[in-house]
Amino acid sequence: MDANIELAPVLARRVTVFGSTGSVGAATLDVVRLARSRYGAHAFPLEAITAHRNVERLIRDARELKPKAVVVTDPALYGEVKSNLAHTGIEVLAGSAGLLEAASRPADMVMSAIVGAAGLAPTLRALERGAMVALANKECVVAAGAIFRRAAQESRGVLIPVDSEHNAAFQLLDFEQSHAIEKVTLTASGGPFRAWSLERMASATPEQAVAHPNWSMGAKISVDSATLMNKGLELIEAHILFGLPPDKLDVVVHPQSAVHCLVAYADGSVLAHLSAPDMKTPIAHALAWPKRMMSPSRRLDFTEFSQFTFEKPDIQRFPSLQLARACLQAGGAAPTILNAANEVAVEQFLGRRLGFLGIAQTVERTLSALSREVNGEAPATLDDVLALDGAARRRAREECALAAA
Ligand code: NAD
Ligand code: MG
Repeated sequence: MDANIELAPVLARRVTVFGSTGSVGAATLDVVRLARSRYGAHAFPLEAITAHRNVERLIRDARELKPKAVVVTDPALYGEVKSNLAHTGIEVLAGSAGLLEAASRPADMVMSAIVGAAGLAPTLRALERGAMVALANKECVVAAGAIFRRAAQESRGVLIPVDSEHNAAFQLLDFEQSHAIEKVTLTASGGPFRAWSLERMASATPEQAVAHPNWSMGAKISVDSATLMNKGLELIEAHILFGLPPDKLDVVVHPQSAVHCLVAYADGSVLAHLSAPDMKTPIAHALAWPKRMMSPSRRLDFTEFSQFTFEKPDIQRFPSLQLARACLQAGGAAPTILNAANEVAVEQFLGRRLGFLGIAQTVERTLSALSREVNGEAPATLDDVLALDGAARRRAREECALAAA
């Protein structure tokens, strides 16, 4: 069948991209560009695109791709964006109120690609009003898992995972046979320090930590990949998105980053998802779901690989993975605290105020300082999440200051 006819309902989707200037956001706009050049200029009309501070890129993308609105979340930069987009007919919104307004506007598909808990409220708002949410921002589901699960059940909204391993799982999981799912294994590349000793990691710099061997990503997730906290957050993300118990979720290190997820079924079958390590594949899958369309992503060339290897993660050298696993087991408030403490510690590391090994230490100390909350209930409302997130951030900053002293 003609692709344009087959894809017509998908191409008509109105799209909002939160965090359009970031690594995932920019890749999303590239997928939109390819769709427009291949299937017609009408493909994926944009409702809104948003950026925090990179206004140069926001303005350039807005002029080219003509969204109805843009949001700049740093209010100090509103005037610059407004004057540069004068006479274009593009509306300019600012601050976190602008983000919430953009989330309320009638986009069929919302790409959630802001980094960190800053993406929480707008992503939830979009889901609650019944949008399809393509979810890259894992921190917001880790911080507010119960709330996201409830919102997905109660609204007509749909969450489509964009994180590559979860997008792979989403493609592999047969939800009608959920009784027969034995194990979902997420792969980890192992990050830039996979073969480093603890002594060497102690003096690792931000530049070394963000130099990921396979993926090109924003600074925060790159550091998370170096500590393996990223894979820990992803275990929690998988638990929330797929409703699987912790003992059915596993991690294996696969340095070639070609296999993204393995799903084992009760009859002994194991299904694997493979693709080049390029976010444009899961992004295109999410934008077109349940159909499939062309993506400008790299293709796998099997002749390039001499071998595929799989190994157990080393939790002695990568304690963050174990901390996250413990929080997954504990449930309740623990994942919210874990995420907030990690965001603070990564920020401090990137600002050279904390050593690399101090990241896991800060998270561990914050969790134990707030242990009464750790054993408590999961925060029930968005306000409860934000209050706990704030308390954990304050405590984590104190721990970082002590570590630096
Ligand atoms: P990035 O740092 O490259 O981009 C972040 C985007 O969020 C930018 O557009 C920035 O302007 C915006 N932003 C930053 N702080 C903000 C704030 N306080 N308020 C509003 N907007 C803000 O990050 P990224 O690598 O694109 O990652 C985005 C999300 O996707 C993260 O949650 C990450 O874990 C997840 N993710 C990324 C990848 C990847 O390959 N990069 C893969 C899987 C999942
Ligand atoms: Mg991932």
